[in-house]
Amino acid sequence: MNTPIAPVTHRIAHLRIDVLSDNALPAPWQAEHGLSLLIDTGEARVLMDTGQGAAFAHNCDLAQPDFAALDAVVLSHGHYDHGGNLAPVLAQTTAPFFSHRDVHVPRWSMHPDALPKYIGLSREANDAISALPAARRHAVGDIAQVAQGVFAVSDIPRTADFEDAGAQLYLDEAGQTPDTVSDDLSLFVPTPQGHVIITGCCHAGLVNTAAHIQRHHPGPIFAIIGGFHLSAASHQRIAHTAAALKPHGVQHLVPMHCTGALAGQLLKKHLFV
Ligand SMILES: [Zn+2]
Ligand SMILES: [Zn+2]
Repeated sequence: MNTPIAPVTHRIAHLRIDVLSDNALPAPWQAEHGLSLLIDTGEARVLMDTGQGAAFAHNCDLAQPDFAALDAVVLSHGHYDHGGNLAPVLAQTTAPFFSHRDVHVPRWSMHPDALPKYIGLSREANDAISALPAARRHAVGDIAQVAQGVFAVSDIPRTADFEDAGAQLYLDEAGQTPDTVSDDLSLFVPTPQGHVIITGCCHAGLVNTAAHIQRHHPGPIFAIIGGFHLSAASHQRIAHTAAALKPHGVQHLVPMHCTGALAGQLLKKHLFV
């Protein structure tokens, strides 16, 4: 059930995002294929995703985030590199947990000349979610407010014909049923300069995600931060993506995690040069 949405009359003036897991981090932080972002608006603290494994734990040892003080824990989608440390994190807080209802589905990736790889949530993570009291578990559909001034969108219509969820993702080990990652979820924070959109892997597509947010809360987009899942995207797709985002007035783009270094540079070039 979604939390009822009030109209956006309250805009966040200060926003800090700490990175607890990402593919590229300088020493003494450890990098891993994963993502975890701690979002602090000054009024609410929201953890989106929990990385993949030991690097997240190492970075938490350094940063000492106070998970007991969280207002919400959000899982962007049910991939192992986002929910890797869900169990220990959920044990350290009584904050509500938000995700799409389908994060638990088993899923695989298939690459030529390699065995199918299970990339869904671990049993430990699934068990930790299932063990939460019903009052702490919130299934995000269309849109939900996860904390004061912080919103989640999911069930994002896939309308842009040049976007896809990512190649080689399947709901079965034999690679028969493609996985559209229907549980993909992004956050956005309305600020005086415009929306700040925070993505996990953005399997729903940047353009589809931005369009869905605009349908609910029209307004400029100030920044987009997170994984954009474009490493296998064609130059044409990236050009289309930039052309669709440009009218929203995007001022800052922070490509992380699964974006792909070249894709991130190309997107910035198309948007800002
Ligand atoms: Zn990912
Ligand atoms: Zn993913």
